[in-house]
Amino acid sequence: MWMKVDDKLHDHPKVQRLLERYDETDALAAMGLWVLSGSWSGDHMSDGVMTPYILKRWHSEWKRLAAMLVEVGLWEVVDVDDRSVHQFHDWTHYNDSKAKIMADRIARQLRKELFADPDLIKAIRARDGDRCRYCGCLVRWGNQRGPSGATYDHVIPVGRPGCTNTLKNVVTACRGCNARKKDMTPDEAGMRLLRPGTLGAPAPEGLNPSDSPSGSGLVGSGAGSGPSPDSIPDPIPPKKTRKAATTQPRTRSKA
Ligand SMILES: [Zn+2]
Repeated sequence: MWMKVDDKLHDHPKVQRLLERYDETDALAAMGLWVLSGSWSGDHMSDGVMTPYILKRWHSEWKRLAAMLVEVGLWEVVDVDDRSVHQFHDWTHYNDSKAKIMADRIARQLRKELFADPDLIKAIRARDGDRCRYCGCLVRWGNQRGPSGATYDHVIPVGRPGCTNTLKNVVTACRGCNARKKDMTPDEAGMRLLRPGTLGAPAPEGLNPSDSPSGSGLVGSGAGSGPSPDSIPDPIPPKKTRKAATTQPRTRSKA
């Protein structure tokens, strides 16, 4: 795991405040505590929460240093399980939460298991006829980036009860529909699951599934039962995009 640290950390107002208000030795000791704690939190997925038991391992005066970090806004005091502990300010705004990390791991595992099951893949493609189950367009398996590129979608999204790699829960989806569905159920995304075998002519890209031709082929979004789609992208993932810049000190400190 990682803790993100901005390359402008040295110039961040909170860090400048720390250096201005305190003796430089104390200020740098506090920053050392901040970095070590961030590394530990990333490693243990504590969502930025630091307990006294951990903090005292690194500095005999951790209480004073922690108070300095709180005073300048880098940390805050929160109650967890009826205990007052320190936590990085807005940790989960800049770093993945434990819940997201675990969900991503489950998604990766499901994706791995799906692509390791050629019989299931074959059955999905035979049933769906290489058409998106949400808009009816003909998907392109060789298209790794465009909206008509083929993906597999979990009708009940990864992380939701009932999400499995089964013929019932995994459907073919164009990348555009998959991106719109995100980690929601069809209902939550305002989309409908088309009945396989009754899909009409390719729908224009961007077509709202509810406006899809062959209304008789529509299956209520509850079909798949409930919640949403996680999207299992193609075997070859699309090009990664950079996250928006933040104002929080971000650094990469490999745990
Ligand atoms: Zn589609």
